[in-house]
Amino acid sequence: RTFEDCGFSAELMKAIAKQAYEKPTPIQCQALPIVLSGRDVIGIAKTGSGKTASFVLPMIVHIMDQPELGKEEGPIGVVCAPTRELAHQIYLEAKKFAKAHGIRVSAVYGGMSKLDQFKELKAGCEIVVATPGRLIDMIKMKALTMLRTTYLVLDEADRMFDLGFEPQIRSIIVK
Ligand code: AMP
Repeated sequence: RTFEDCGFSAELMKAIAKQAYEKPTPIQCQALPIVLSGRDVIGIAKTGSGKTASFVLPMIVHIMDQPELGKEEGPIGVVCAPTRELAHQIYLEAKKFAKAHGIRVSAVYGGMSKLDQFKELKAGCEIVVATPGRLIDMIKMKALTMLRTTYLVLDEADRMFDLGFEPQIRSIIVK
């Protein structure tokens, strides 16, 4: 399997080439076609396996597929991660590819100014990468709504559950 098989846009292919990703990793080979077909996926792969790109690339495709893109508010793609460090890594990986289409990515996690995050979210974005607690804080502060969110990723979901984030995750899913 190659990235060409995925039907990505020329812009996205250029961004992939820029990262010097020659071919999809095993988790990408397995996950990309299923996610791109619109189905839900539970993926299990180690850190360093390229699992981030396996959900980020189809998320970009999904966002570009929205007919009303730019007209409505709130993120279309939301990624929850258990720690600030992981959220930041995902944010960096998402930015590499989002840039190709002018898609805006915001990171929302503890340890950063709530006011700055509030302002950034209010300015608008298509992708939010967040830790669950801070995301809920931002929803309560009406910095964003998830009414437009149709692509949700729970990264390291098992760890989030181990850390006791289940109630927060459940409340995010129904929002
Ligand atoms: P991850 O497992 O998502 O944390 O990714 C680990 C590292 O592999 C990151 O630096 C990615 O940028 C990189 N990576 C992801 N996909 C590929 C690929 N297909 N070929 C080479 N490197 C990749």
